[in-house]
Amino acid sequence: MSTPTTQSGDSIRWHDSITKNKTLIIYPTPAVKTFQWYLVFKNAIKEFNNFKAGVTFTIEEKIPPEQKQDWKECWPGTNVQFDVCVGKTEYTACNQKQGPVIIEDGLCKGTTLPVEVYARSEKGTQHLVRVKAFIMMPPHPISTVKDPSGHKRLVGDGVKLVMAVHELIHACGLNKHSNQDVDVFSATFVSKLGPSDKQDVAMFGQREMPPISLSDETASRIQKIWE
Ligand SMILES: [Zn+2]
Repeated sequence: MSTPTTQSGDSIRWHDSITKNKTLIIYPTPAVKTFQWYLVFKNAIKEFNNFKAGVTFTIEEKIPPEQKQDWKECWPGTNVQFDVCVGKTEYTACNQKQGPVIIEDGLCKGTTLPVEVYARSEKGTQHLVRVKAFIMMPPHPISTVKDPSGHKRLVGDGVKLVMAVHELIHACGLNKHSNQDVDVFSATFVSKLGPSDKQDVAMFGQREMPPISLSDETASRIQKIWE
């Protein structure tokens, strides 16, 4: 639910060469299947694309080409990588180590690591723009609240879907969260376990998700950076 980089302000545009395509190419790492996040990943992309907020994600299943020396080589391949990992995690992009980020397993919380560079816009001014983003999910998100029979356990796909959609919104360029309990992009929620994991939901105050809800305000914040 966090972005380590805060210097970019409330939101940040992707590089013009990416923004003009109105899509972000996203690559799920093999760990996404290994740790049973793949179905959630696919559904999260569907949910995000249904927002119709001026940008969609396009899934690329093939392993992206190795990063080349010139940071511009980041662009032709995938823009966003969706990973499931734990502990100290770092990636190479733009010929630089990105991270490390510490991912704690067991939390209902993902992280997005953005890669941003100064680039000249079409108007000729220098701006900090995003050229890459890494989404990281914990392998085993566990509820902080016990289920009706008094046990803690792994959360079901409904809660994982909320986690994934939230990080897709970070990856598309929003840094600052929505106000608390407004929509899926609010900072925190409490997971509520049902009798089986199929009934698990994320509670944003009294608001239960899924179904995923996105406020008009958040949708227009996305639209603004993808015009
Ligand atoms: Zn967040």
